Amino acid sequence: MDSLLSVIQKHWGYDSFRPLQREAMSAAMTSRDSLTVLPTGGGKSLCYQAPAVCRNGMAVVVSPLIALMKDQVDALTECGVPAAFVNSSLTSQQRMDVANRVRRGELKMLFAAPERLVQQRMIDFLADVDLSFIAIDEAHCISNWGHDFRPEYRRLSSLRQAFPDVSIHAFTATATERVRQDITEQLNLTAPEILVGSFDRPNLLYRVERRHDVIGQIREVVDRHPNESGIVYCISRANVEETASTLKSLGYKTLPYHAGLEPDQRKANQEAFIDEKINIIVATVAFGMGIDKSNVRYVVHAEMPRSIEAYQQESGRAGRDGLEAECSLIYSGRDTHTWEFLINQSENDDNREASLQALEKMESFCFSSVCRHTQLVAHFGQQLEKDNCGACDVCLNEIENLPDPLVLAQKIISSVYRQEQRYGAEYTSLVLRGSKSKKVLTNGHDRLSTYGLLRKESERDVRGWIDQLVAQGMLKRSGEYSVLVITDEGLQLLKGDVTPQLTRPKTRQQAASATHKWEGVDRGLFENLRQMRMDIAAERGVPPYVIFGDMTLRELARFRPTDVDVLLGIYGIGQQKLEEFGTTVVERIADYCLAEELESDLPISDANRSAKTARSGSYRQK
Ligand code: ADP
Ligand code: ZN
Repeated sequence: MDSLLSVIQKHWGYDSFRPLQREAMSAAMTSRDSLTVLPTGGGKSLCYQAPAVCRNGMAVVVSPLIALMKDQVDALTECGVPAAFVNSSLTSQQRMDVANRVRRGELKMLFAAPERLVQQRMIDFLADVDLSFIAIDEAHCISNWGHDFRPEYRRLSSLRQAFPDVSIHAFTATATERVRQDITEQLNLTAPEILVGSFDRPNLLYRVERRHDVIGQIREVVDRHPNESGIVYCISRANVEETASTLKSLGYKTLPYHAGLEPDQRKANQEAFIDEKINIIVATVAFGMGIDKSNVRYVVHAEMPRSIEAYQQESGRAGRDGLEAECSLIYSGRDTHTWEFLINQSENDDNREASLQALEKMESFCFSSVCRHTQLVAHFGQQLEKDNCGACDVCLNEIENLPDPLVLAQKIISSVYRQEQRYGAEYTSLVLRGSKSKKVLTNGHDRLSTYGLLRKESERDVRGWIDQLVAQGMLKRSGEYSVLVITDEGLQLLKGDVTPQLTRPKTRQQAASATHKWEGVDRGLFENLRQMRMDIAAERGVPPYVIFGDMTLRELARFRPTDVDVLLGIYGIGQQKLEEFGTTVVERIADYCLAEELESDLPISDANRSAKTARSGSYRQK
């Protein structure tokens, strides 16, 4: 373990293990088969990379996506770890070069796609190579119970026979018991060590709000993160295009991403985002798989996702570096309708029922006023060990439970009744709020006893309550025009036999957790170093986060070292990066501090470092 720690320090510049990394690495060191389940950003890659460096021989890493392999190899090379990949993007000359490096024993890791690894030629070739172990990334792709089944992964079941003496280590972020079991069976793992981490992401701040002014609501999030990267998800291509162009006309650096774009265009837009030439990518869910960008500071869902799994995946792309990040979900009752339509159109009967159930769970997540972190980990069978997460709209007290929900709900449902259940939510809200609109007056609905009962309430709140009553099953939307209809439960409510829960958003306080990791950081210097990082990355043709993570830049802009020798004390700077970029970095800092008359060379110590990756281990499996 000591040698692992010194390898991690030397190559990656980290000084400790994250939860379960020690255990997972120890399995790889001792050749015991293993399955490690950690959430996105939990640090799975290091679990096989560090042992691969420590052990003799070369590890084979199975990875599903060609783009991801290149990024991983680039990042390893920047850390001074010899690694390579083989896939269809290489010329035959390049493939031969890799083969020669393998034969000469120069590589610590070789990345390959599953279909290539199981080819007889490859197996014969590797038979003569000293293999340390086999690591399988995104191992859930082997299971058709998961959300991302890939048939080519199935063929990995032949690995055990092809390499009987080599241990296999599987990694995934997908947690269900069923998928886990499938992985161990399909891969023929022998008495595997099974390690399941906490699914909570304490550095993510979750908020859920009803959609009333979508662009305004998106801007509120984006404006909290000037110059930083974020993703905005929409359901349809048309909404992606419209949202992107509106944001662009407002001066934001943004591009769209969806499956309807020409492949070249799509790739260019994705790269512009990864290389930080733009800040915001507006996308359908087609965007994200294989995106390893560690410093996405916010993910906004401009429309509701289709399931909690999807939400966890998509929002999970924020804050992989462990620094604080924001996940904002903006929903409307209409989104449920959109999904129902899409599901009914596309799924076969077997999947339809499951998809509709998943949708219903997603909807109740939106309407509930239970801590978001608690709800998310509960979905994966875990329990949060604290009462107040301090990082969601509920725990931050941004949602108010109304004191007398029954009377309020009765007013709304009686109005639906008196309007003969022939109108939608928008119209119902007009009547309740006493609107003088032509339609209401022509219908004579200004004479209804419910007319103007909620005159003092905002349209946003009234529409929100109607959505909540639909989600709680007291009203139902029906037909093409989404007419509101009263359910049996709604009738009971009118009699006072059931009580709903109704909430209203409160004015927002700044979350404490959202700012403390900037403590002591000079923002100007941070921007300056960010520019430096972009320049170095462009020169080398790699993504900026491969050069330095945001955490490293923040530490540099906090402690402002001007002496190369102390750089090893900075998070994320190991021997290789010190040698390559050390002088550039300290000169840049010295110049800046001189020009801005800013104090440099503050003592680097944990006490001054409020920003260590906070990953509390205070969560347990149910
Ligand atoms: P995953 O594959 O589980 O989604 P990654 O392997 O991409 O997660 O790791 C997420 C981030 O955490 C990366 O930026 C990685 O360098 C960093 N990281 C991993 N292990 C450690 C550690 N022990 N100390 C500090 N940072 C770490
Ligand atoms: Zn909470």
